[in-house]
Amino acid sequence: MEQIILTGDRPTGKLHLGHFVGSLKNRLELQNLGKYEMYIMIADTQALTDNFGNIQKVRDNILEVALDYLSFGLDPNKTTIFIQSMVPELTEISMYYMNLVTVSRLSRNPTVKEEIKQKNFEKSIPVGFFTYPISQASDITAFDANLVPVGEDQLPMIEQTREIVRSFNNLYGENTLVEPKAMLPENKTCLRLPGIDGKAKMSKSLGNCIYLSDTSEEVERKVKMMYTDPDHIKVEDPGKVEGNMVFTYLDALCNDSHFEKHLPSYKNLDELKAHYTKGGLGDMVIKKFLIKVINELLTPIREKRNELAKNPDLVYEILRQGSERARNKAHKTLIRIKNAMGINYYDEK
Ligand code: ATP
Ligand code: MG
Repeated sequence: MEQIILTGDRPTGKLHLGHFVGSLKNRLELQNLGKYEMYIMIADTQALTDNFGNIQKVRDNILEVALDYLSFGLDPNKTTIFIQSMVPELTEISMYYMNLVTVSRLSRNPTVKEEIKQKNFEKSIPVGFFTYPISQASDITAFDANLVPVGEDQLPMIEQTREIVRSFNNLYGENTLVEPKAMLPENKTCLRLPGIDGKAKMSKSLGNCIYLSDTSEEVERKVKMMYTDPDHIKVEDPGKVEGNMVFTYLDALCNDSHFEKHLPSYKNLDELKAHYTKGGLGDMVIKKFLIKVINELLTPIREKRNELAKNPDLVYEILRQGSERARNKAHKTLIRIKNAMGINYYDEK
């Protein structure tokens, strides 16, 4: 079977290290394998469901997210990068899927539940926000995607999509829609990178991020603020690695070659952890190392981004062309859906 990938990000802010380890790294590898047809979507329609009062923010971040993609190495010649609202077929498909999902099923979605709490929606949840998992099902299935590289928070969305696909195919014709699978990062820490404040998830909406576009000074300032082990007061005190944000980030980001270059007195992270646990290793040493690791990863991205940012017209042209390609594909799926449902009234059979 042909392998098709759909993933995306909400244009609610610049992309951060959570995206780096949770999805971008996988996407880049998949793109460069050259075996997949890959679609990457800037999910503005979805971003509007909780930012409808702040259109300017969504507008501005379409360019920012596109700049992050391109500077990270996503290549418009290999990958179709597009804007969700520029493919109106997605909205129409969502409308048909809405009949296949119950309110109580949506209410049980743990990610949506958590976000409702986080955003203080309480009893006044916008319908658009409440139903975004359905629109995500439409995005995925419109491209016949069978693989969706995402972070752990997206698993309930993929499950919801699979249920919609099964209901649709049962009702309207087997094999009309493709059932997708999530692709999670292999490294457990990358499933959900916590924020610099130690909160469960680094997230644009929580403002606890190290952005791909942060300057090296910003990286330094943020790492220095990071929470380590509150009981590790003197250098000689034994320290805890678990729940220590600096080690969590090192788990997600560093490899042995970083030690060779920046901290050659240790061979690898296990040695560093052992020393910290035993005592005699100060927080400044591990923080300085983390700063170097992050800056080594971000410097090339930052440089390319600064270049690309000088030419926003080119970036919008890439998005325009990508959206046109995406629209062609989604249109074919929409026709297939309508045929399967029998709402192709003008077609003579
Ligand atoms: P928002 O706060 O607006 O929801 P976000 O920071 O959660 O933004 P999204 O655009 O919702 O980012 O997520 C895009 C993709 O990045 C998803 O696949 C998500 O799983 C992944 N992702 C986001 N944050 C993290 C994180 N901290 N760790 C791992 N993956 C993440
Ligand atoms: Mg999110």
